[in-house]
Amino acid sequence: MLNTTATPTHCPYCALQCGMNVLPGPAVEGRPEFPVNQGALCGKGQSAASVLSSQVRLTEPLVRDPATGRLTPASWEEALDRVADGLARARAGHGADACGVFGGGGLTNEKAYALGKFARIVLGTSQIDYNGRFCMSSAAAAGQKAFGLDRGLPFPLEDIPHTGCLILVGSNLAETMPPALRYISELKANGGTLIVIDPRRTRTAEQADLHLAPRPGTDLALALGMLHLVVADGRVDEEYVQGRTRGWEEARSAAMAHWPEHVERVTGVPVPQLREAVGMFTAAERAMVLTARGPEQQSKGTDTVGAWINLALATGRPGRPFSGYGCLTGQGNGQGGREHGQKADQLPGYRKLTDPAARAHVAEVWGVEPDALPGPGRSAYELLDALGGDIRALLLMGSNPVVSAPRAAHVESRIRSLDFLAVADVVLSETAELADVVLPVTQWAEETGTVTNLEGRVLLRRRALTPPSGVRTDLYVLQELAARLAPGLEKGFPTDAREVFDELRRASAGGPADYSGISYDRLAEGEGVFWPWSSDDAAADAGGSAGTPRLFLERFATEDGRARFVPVTHRPAAEEPDAEYPLYLTTGRVVAQYQSGAQTRRVPELNKAAPEAFVELHPRLAGRLGVAQGDAVAVTSRRGRVEVPAHLTAMIRPDTVFMPFHWPGAGRANTLTNPALDPASRMPEFKVCAVRVERVG
Ligand code: SF4
Repeated sequence: MLNTTATPTHCPYCALQCGMNVLPGPAVEGRPEFPVNQGALCGKGQSAASVLSSQVRLTEPLVRDPATGRLTPASWEEALDRVADGLARARAGHGADACGVFGGGGLTNEKAYALGKFARIVLGTSQIDYNGRFCMSSAAAAGQKAFGLDRGLPFPLEDIPHTGCLILVGSNLAETMPPALRYISELKANGGTLIVIDPRRTRTAEQADLHLAPRPGTDLALALGMLHLVVADGRVDEEYVQGRTRGWEEARSAAMAHWPEHVERVTGVPVPQLREAVGMFTAAERAMVLTARGPEQQSKGTDTVGAWINLALATGRPGRPFSGYGCLTGQGNGQGGREHGQKADQLPGYRKLTDPAARAHVAEVWGVEPDALPGPGRSAYELLDALGGDIRALLLMGSNPVVSAPRAAHVESRIRSLDFLAVADVVLSETAELADVVLPVTQWAEETGTVTNLEGRVLLRRRALTPPSGVRTDLYVLQELAARLAPGLEKGFPTDAREVFDELRRASAGGPADYSGISYDRLAEGEGVFWPWSSDDAAADAGGSAGTPRLFLERFATEDGRARFVPVTHRPAAEEPDAEYPLYLTTGRVVAQYQSGAQTRRVPELNKAAPEAFVELHPRLAGRLGVAQGDAVAVTSRRGRVEVPAHLTAMIRPDTVFMPFHWPGAGRANTLTNPALDPASRMPEFKVCAVRVERVG
């Protein structure tokens, strides 16, 4: 039953951005009108109201008392003065780049935009990046190379049931975004087939007609082997390749060097399974490949995604109805968060920071000279690694890198070595615990703003509740800091989200992610608008259009309108198992927790469902190690050691162990992970490193 006092909005968590109503209480209910979830919510969404009224949320600023070393309550004036002073001292003593800014893929479009602008024109620093670098940056880089544009899904989710064959690579959407499973069910009801590629037999893989379980870090070879068979079997769509692409010969040559028998040795996937997958994929008149964190979070993530795109292009899929390639972005505003300027190398509208025309356009909107804008800065891990070195002070919004960054113990030590750390958050996360100043900010249902979901659909989140008196919005924080650090510039940092969005529209106009035709009024009328949607598009629209749901139908976003094959070859992971560390570790998620768990670990029902970290082992491996179900085991890599209970399951390869990464402390999976970076996307290798496992005691 819909309550008449319900405020329609969207879930605070993942990139599906399920529609929900906020009810008095507060409570939430699924919103059937929103086409993506049609009223369904996962456990995280159902309990989303919990943190709003939680006793553990922050409701007053905290500053570190120099005498006791403890965080103690303070007024907003004092806290903001301390933040401004910490940043100003770093800048005065070491230059503008001594101030770092770290954002998040959960920030609204308005916050991401304002944070990027604040870093560049108030602090004048190039050192800004965000945790989305750890999410889908390899898919973004590969999409840019192949199609000239990165929009996670270039078609709406509703197209999935109408394809004939879907290959899901490294996605466990049954646990990460359960309401999306309905698209798989509908696909199968329509006679379509599902192939899942994952080292684990996940809940998603259990739905598959065919599950291929390669060794971690070898799916690039798998894609090349499939492309080899496509060529050998004469299943290349020559007309499409000739008419809509460039670079085929080089990509074909690279694939032909990967013989199926060689691919079997590298991946562990038998040749007959490889042939079966190729047969299913090429037999379908319409087919899709969707990637997620599995192929992307590797030190060769961009090439791995590129190999899957090559397979899709060779068989003529992208830019055709109910076919193509897409990325299932993870974080709530993972898509919008990468478009509006908090990324080290980009300006709003998904413009390149190195492009003189882009700099001139954005500088004009911001009322500064183009030369005043700094150049590109370090990527997320590189920025965190430089803390306490070149970077002396850090302003962090909406992220918890002490838990979520690779080689986390090292990152934690770098954070501890800063001269000054300010964190704006809703709870005292593990990173906020280390701060000199903690600023308590409003939560999703207490503020208005827009987010862009994994389909590129821009959505309005409405304010439904009055926040506690002691908290402020992130936009307020930026305005107040601008007033203290660069008096006069605060006028460019309004606290009204609509005003910020209207400026964002102007800044994005003419860019790849053009939002200029998308207004709050238009968003309030319907269920979102797909970008790009320029002011010219909006003016020509007869009314009611949802923007541009499908891209590339006529041409790709490259100069000549053709997609690009990118020749790629397989290479091993940065760290392979050896005598000392004989097992692969891969990391991921469980259904009841979200990202670093900063919010979901504070929700009683979610914590009960998934209370602690664990490591999954195959029973054969456990037998060899003398480990029984529930035994405490030590998992050790070259970067550290954790102790967790063992979960025995036949769903994982015997040469591989799995840990979810949502917990801090002794169960922190990222203590173990390898920060080896992809050369193009600067994505760390979360998905594969070498470990050993030993029974404790
Ligand atoms: Fe929220 Fe994602 Fe769950 Fe939907 S699937 S309710 S958006 S966490």
